[in-house]
Amino acid sequence: RAVDTVGELVAAEGLDCDYIRPGFLRMATTPAYERRIRREIELAHSLGIEGIEWLDRDAARARVGSDRYRGAWWEPRTALVNPLKLVREMKRVVVGLGATVHERSPVRSIARPGPFLLGTAGGSVAAERIVLATNAYSHLLPPLRRKQVPAWTYVIATEPLSGEQLAPIGWEGREGVEDARNLIHYYRRTPDDRLLMGGGPVGLGFGRGMDRDSGPAAWAHLEAHVRDLFPSLAGARVTHRWGGPFSVTTDLTPAIGYLGDPRAVYSVGCIGHGVSMTHLNGQTIRDLVLERDTELTRHWLVNRRVLPWPPEPVRLGVSAAIRAYLGLEDRIHERPAPG
Ligand SMILES: Cc1cc2nc3c(=O)[nH]c(=O)nc-3n(C[C@H](O)[C@H](O)[C@H](O)COP(=O)(O)OP(=O)(O)OC[C@H]3O[C@@H](n4cnc5c(N)ncnc54)[C@H](O)[C@@H]3O)c2cc1C
Repeated sequence: RAVDTVGELVAAEGLDCDYIRPGFLRMATTPAYERRIRREIELAHSLGIEGIEWLDRDAARARVGSDRYRGAWWEPRTALVNPLKLVREMKRVVVGLGATVHERSPVRSIARPGPFLLGTAGGSVAAERIVLATNAYSHLLPPLRRKQVPAWTYVIATEPLSGEQLAPIGWEGREGVEDARNLIHYYRRTPDDRLLMGGGPVGLGFGRGMDRDSGPAAWAHLEAHVRDLFPSLAGARVTHRWGGPFSVTTDLTPAIGYLGDPRAVYSVGCIGHGVSMTHLNGQTIRDLVLERDTELTRHWLVNRRVLPWPPEPVRLGVSAAIRAYLGLEDRIHERPAPG
């Protein structure tokens, strides 16, 4: 539904954000991942979720050619966008509707003497109602300190690839691709024919620190993974490397709700799926701000109890233990078969 919401917005507002709906492949790269994906497809079907099917080895490789692929979860309904273009287009739309957007003016303090008083470096703003849609930065705001923590994901993009480099890969459908790891790799062929790949090792922060956008080890891991999957890209130059924080709740599930009273709404915890989810969450937040009782505000994600993260240094210990466990399980799933 969140994916549909973005598609509807793009069509209704004419958003220029390279939106395409090519479908999604979760590639099985080892026998253990193949078993995991097949089990998950069976589970989805048993729950009545339609529109997902197993592609065998040849069908998966016919879409994206890699000797590593043993089959795939295929889900035609998913979409891809350029998220930077999307957010700029959304700004254009809301400004056109009369909103004022203040960038580079972080709120440093929130007081509630009557109306809210939001303090910034350049002055303060009074507001009857506020929405804290601060995602991975939310722990910096005292009322949200324990609801989520940031973790960092890293991305690389190659130079535009030549026809010769792409020939063994195919990928004419430009599907979005992931694998079945816990610490997933996610990748796509961009409109200008770069390979963009993110994921693998995840970065963790300590306390209020937010300076983890650089991830040399993760970038090196991704470059090696590109070469392993697609030998024809061994010589492709990586021209862009970046990283950023995503928001993690203790149960890895989003949380939206009122903060104390209905005049303050928060939204955290989309993990790595927020590009579509935040658009649907925006509609939920709208209904909460307007104090409407709707199907969206009755959703179980809304006003649920979120198990709080512990304070530091336990928080870092817990996050590091979770990350280590997820990585260990990935290594077990990637062990070569005996003999
Ligand atoms: C490298 C990377 C790759 C990703 N890949 C994907 C993907 O493939 N698919 C997907 O669905 N999701 C992906 N995500 C996650 C996705 O980007 C997020 O889930 C989504 O952007 C969340 O949207 P948001 O509006 O909640 O938060 P954000 O987009 O993080 O926006 C939060 C905003 O709050 C502002 N802010 C924070 N503190 C304050 C303050 N005190 N005062 C004022 N403003 C403040 C920030 O400046 C920021 O603009 C990725 C994230 C990263 C970092």
